[in-house]
Amino acid sequence: MSEPATCPICTMPELLVADDGFECATCGHEWLGDADNGHGEIRDANGNLLADGDAVTVVKDLKLDGKTGGVKSGTKIKSIRLVSGDHEIDGKVDGRQLLVKAAFVKKA
Ligand SMILES: [Zn+2]
Repeated sequence: MSEPATCPICTMPELLVADDGFECATCGHEWLGDADNGHGEIRDANGNLLADGDAVTVVKDLKLDGKTGGVKSGTKIKSIRLVSGDHEIDGKVDGRQLLVKAAFVKKA
């Protein structure tokens, strides 16, 4: 979670970190943390932080539920959406919606 340095209301730097955001120790203002959107930080195979809308490249041949025509290493996925769960990346390849593990991609 990346912490804002100061309270957006009173600009004092004393902040308390709560489960779902931050609370200002000076004025009591509470706000949601920018990194806490349900799935936490998701990193690619190289440890780079991923964000919604990023383009990634698959780095491993992936099989899709035993069906033929999986995703080949080197396939690009544009405009990913990050979701919580075992497979953190929601994207489209050739018009097919699929979920991929973040560990199997790198940021393009
Ligand atoms: Zn404050």
